Amino acid sequence: TPKPLIAGNWKMNGVTSGLTALRTIAEGVSQHTDTFDGLICLPATMIERGTRLCNGTALLLGGQDCHFEQSGAHTGDISADMLQDAGASYVILGHSERRADHDETNTDVLKKSLAAYETGLTAIICVGETRAEREEGRAMEIVSNQLEGSMSKDANSQNTVIAYEPVWAIGTGLVPSNHDIEAMHGHIRQVLSERFGVEGESMRILYGGSLKPSNAEEILRTKNVNGGLIGGASLKSEDFLAICAAV
Ligand code: 13P
Repeated sequence: TPKPLIAGNWKMNGVTSGLTALRTIAEGVSQHTDTFDGLICLPATMIERGTRLCNGTALLLGGQDCHFEQSGAHTGDISADMLQDAGASYVILGHSERRADHDETNTDVLKKSLAAYETGLTAIICVGETRAEREEGRAMEIVSNQLEGSMSKDANSQNTVIAYEPVWAIGTGLVPSNHDIEAMHGHIRQVLSERFGVEGESMRILYGGSLKPSNAEEILRTKNVNGGLIGGASLKSEDFLAICAAV
């Protein structure tokens, strides 16, 4: 089984004062490099400063989105090359907030992943159903379709991580039952194995959505859960490190 990845997604949070928490996280993560990899996906404006600050620690840094081209006339966008230049080694792609707020489609996510691979960034491709889709019994079908459409044939266990984030669990305090998490992660594993063979067997599948210190141990020991993608609880160093300690 792959080494767990404990990843924070700071979303649109973080200015200079947040660097204190980042440094504490970097020091904490560096004490457990044998058991998991630690990553924080920062706002783009903080990546370069974060890189300097975390120099010499084991903490990995990432971005939260990239354009599908590396440069050009795209006002306000950030490219994979730019993230890499600032010190990132990962990028989150197709987060449900980007799918909702910026109408990102599976095809967009696939194109962005190719830009990430070209630069050498590892893509964290996010999938997950809405509450209505789960209630209609369509959660697995929705997630299969997202995986099928958002992943390129070039994806492998080194350049790609999948994050299962049920939309209704993000920022709500609600989490699926352990039974439902295990069923969905097993389903994702099967889809990945069928399409990517041995690479699909060892690709990391993260759980995300209201992950916190009190539920981390149970969720992180679930079969086919190879780590977590943490929003709110990644902003406080003590919460993030408590989740890390549950690995
Ligand atoms: P919360 O942990 O705040 O629910 O956010 C999860 C998430 O969207 C991580 O990408």
